[in-house]
Amino acid sequence: MTASADRWTFCSRGHIHWGANGGAGLLLRYAPERGEPVYLLTERSRWVDEGGTYGIPGGAIHDGESVEAAARREASEEIWPLPPYRVTGVDVQDCSGGWHFHIVRADVDEMFAAYTASQTDATGWFTLAEMPTLRLHPGFREWVEDQLRAGQ
Ligand SMILES: [Zn+2]
Repeated sequence: MTASADRWTFCSRGHIHWGANGGAGLLLRYAPERGEPVYLLTERSRWVDEGGTYGIPGGAIHDGESVEAAARREASEEIWPLPPYRVTGVDVQDCSGGWHFHIVRADVDEMFAAYTASQTDATGWFTLAEMPTLRLHPGFREWVEDQLRAGQ
Protein backbone atom coordinates (compact mmCIF):
# COMPACT_ATOMS: atom_id res chain seq x y z
CA MET A 1 0.00 0.00 0.00
CA THR A 2 1.40 3.37 -0.90
CA ALA A 3 0.26 6.82 -0.06
CA SER A 4 1.17 8.15 -3.47
CA ALA A 5 -2.48 8.86 -4.12
CA ASP A 6 -2.43 11.40 -1.26
CA ARG A 7 -2.14 14.36 -3.55
CA TRP A 8 -4.14 16.96 -5.38
CA THR A 9 -5.35 16.01 -8.80
CA PHE A 10 -7.22 17.71 -11.62
CA CYS A 11 -10.30 16.04 -13.09
CA SER A 12 -11.32 16.42 -16.71
CA ARG A 13 -13.54 19.37 -15.81
CA GLY A 14 -10.59 21.22 -14.34
CA HIS A 15 -11.61 20.94 -10.69
CA ILE A 16 -8.87 20.29 -8.22
CA HIS A 17 -9.56 17.31 -5.95
CA TRP A 18 -7.71 15.64 -3.09
CA GLY A 19 -6.85 12.03 -3.92
CA ALA A 20 -5.61 10.68 -7.23
CA ASN A 21 -7.88 7.61 -6.88
CA GLY A 22 -10.85 9.53 -5.56
CA GLY A 23 -11.92 9.88 -1.98
CA ALA A 24 -13.89 8.04 0.67
CA GLY A 25 -15.47 8.96 3.96
CA LEU A 26 -17.38 7.24 6.72
CA LEU A 27 -20.84 8.42 7.70
CA LEU A 28 -21.87 6.79 10.98
CA ARG A 29 -25.54 6.78 11.91
CA TYR A 30 -27.30 5.89 15.11
CA ALA A 31 -31.00 5.15 14.68
CA PRO A 32 -32.83 5.09 18.00
CA GLU A 33 -36.03 3.10 18.35
CA ARG A 34 -37.93 6.36 18.63
CA GLY A 35 -37.03 9.69 17.14
CA GLU A 36 -34.80 10.84 14.37
CA PRO A 37 -31.58 9.11 13.41
CA VAL A 38 -28.45 11.07 14.23
CA TYR A 39 -25.18 11.17 12.31
CA LEU A 40 -21.65 11.68 13.56
CA LEU A 41 -20.03 14.72 12.01
CA THR A 42 -16.57 16.10 12.54
CA GLU A 43 -15.41 19.68 12.44
CA ARG A 44 -12.28 19.95 10.35
CA SER A 45 -9.24 21.58 11.90
CA ARG A 46 -8.59 25.16 10.88
CA TRP A 47 -5.32 24.33 9.12
CA VAL A 48 -6.70 21.70 6.73
CA ASP A 49 -8.56 22.24 3.48
CA GLU A 50 -12.03 23.70 4.19
CA GLY A 51 -11.01 24.11 7.83
CA GLY A 52 -13.74 24.93 10.31
CA THR A 53 -16.45 23.15 8.37
CA TYR A 54 -18.43 20.09 9.42
CA GLY A 55 -18.32 16.94 7.39
CA ILE A 56 -17.35 13.32 7.78
CA PRO A 57 -13.97 11.74 8.39
CA GLY A 58 -12.46 10.87 5.05
CA GLY A 59 -9.67 11.33 2.59
CA ALA A 60 -7.84 9.93 -0.38
CA ILE A 61 -8.19 6.30 -1.44
CA HIS A 62 -4.74 4.72 -1.57
CA ASP A 63 -3.52 2.57 -4.45
CA GLY A 64 -5.09 -0.87 -4.31
CA GLU A 65 -7.33 0.05 -1.39
CA SER A 66 -11.07 -0.62 -1.34
CA VAL A 67 -13.50 2.20 -0.75
CA GLU A 68 -14.60 0.69 2.56
CA ALA A 69 -11.02 0.16 3.72
CA ALA A 70 -10.14 3.74 2.87
CA ALA A 71 -13.14 5.07 4.79
CA ARG A 72 -12.22 2.93 7.80
CA ARG A 73 -8.57 3.98 7.74
CA GLU A 74 -9.38 7.67 7.47
CA ALA A 75 -12.03 7.50 10.20
CA SER A 76 -9.70 5.67 12.56
CA GLU A 77 -7.08 8.36 11.98
CA GLU A 78 -9.44 11.23 12.72
CA ILE A 79 -11.61 10.00 15.59
CA TRP A 80 -11.39 7.43 18.36
CA PRO A 81 -12.63 5.03 19.37
CA LEU A 82 -14.04 3.68 16.15
CA PRO A 83 -16.65 1.19 17.36
CA PRO A 84 -17.95 -1.79 15.40
CA TYR A 85 -20.30 -0.72 12.62
CA ARG A 86 -22.41 -2.26 9.86
CA VAL A 87 -22.03 -0.85 6.38
CA THR A 88 -25.46 -0.19 4.89
CA GLY A 89 -24.51 1.33 1.55
CA VAL A 90 -22.20 3.58 -0.39
CA ASP A 91 -23.29 6.87 -1.95
CA VAL A 92 -21.08 7.96 -4.83
CA GLN A 93 -20.68 11.65 -5.54
CA ASP A 94 -19.65 12.30 -9.11
CA CYS A 95 -18.27 15.67 -10.15
CA SER A 96 -18.91 14.77 -13.83
CA GLY A 97 -15.20 15.09 -14.51
CA GLY A 98 -14.18 11.56 -13.66
CA TRP A 99 -13.49 12.08 -9.97
CA HIS A 100 -15.58 10.42 -7.27
CA PHE A 101 -16.09 10.71 -3.55
CA HIS A 102 -17.62 7.69 -1.83
CA ILE A 103 -19.72 8.13 1.29
CA VAL A 104 -19.74 4.81 3.14
CA ARG A 105 -22.90 4.74 5.23
CA ALA A 106 -22.83 2.62 8.35
CA ASP A 107 -24.90 2.04 11.47
CA VAL A 108 -23.62 1.88 15.03
CA ASP A 109 -25.41 0.55 18.11
CA GLU A 110 -24.96 3.57 20.33
CA MET A 111 -24.27 7.28 20.26
CA PHE A 112 -20.73 6.74 21.45
CA ALA A 113 -18.54 9.58 22.65
CA ALA A 114 -16.20 10.26 19.76
CA TYR A 115 -12.93 11.99 20.53
CA THR A 116 -10.89 13.88 18.01
CA ALA A 117 -7.54 12.53 16.90
CA SER A 118 -5.99 14.12 13.84
CA GLN A 119 -7.19 16.95 11.57
CA THR A 120 -10.35 17.32 13.62
CA ASP A 121 -11.38 19.93 16.18
CA ALA A 122 -14.73 18.62 17.36
CA THR A 123 -17.32 15.94 16.81
CA GLY A 124 -21.07 15.93 17.24
CA TRP A 125 -24.23 13.97 16.54
CA PHE A 126 -26.78 15.73 14.35
CA THR A 127 -30.08 14.94 12.70
CA LEU A 128 -30.41 15.64 9.00
CA ALA A 129 -32.74 18.53 9.80
CA GLU A 130 -30.09 20.15 11.99
CA MET A 131 -27.30 19.91 9.44
CA PRO A 132 -28.20 22.93 7.26
CA THR A 133 -27.66 25.15 10.33
CA LEU A 134 -24.01 24.07 10.44
CA ARG A 135 -21.19 25.43 8.34
CA LEU A 136 -20.84 22.34 6.17
CA HIS A 137 -18.03 21.15 3.97
CA PRO A 138 -19.20 21.90 0.39
CA GLY A 139 -19.05 18.27 -0.73
CA PHE A 140 -20.96 17.06 2.29
CA ARG A 141 -23.48 19.87 1.92
CA GLU A 142 -24.42 18.40 -1.47
CA TRP A 143 -25.12 15.05 0.16
CA VAL A 144 -27.27 16.72 2.85
CA GLU A 145 -29.25 18.67 0.26
CA ASP A 146 -29.82 15.49 -1.76
CA GLN A 147 -31.15 13.71 1.32
CA LEU A 148 -33.43 16.58 2.28
CA ARG A 149 -34.76 16.82 -1.28
CA ALA A 150 -35.43 13.08 -1.24
CA GLY A 151 -37.50 13.68 1.90
CA GLN A 152 -35.51 11.40 4.16
ZN1 LIG B 1 -14.10 17.26 -10.73
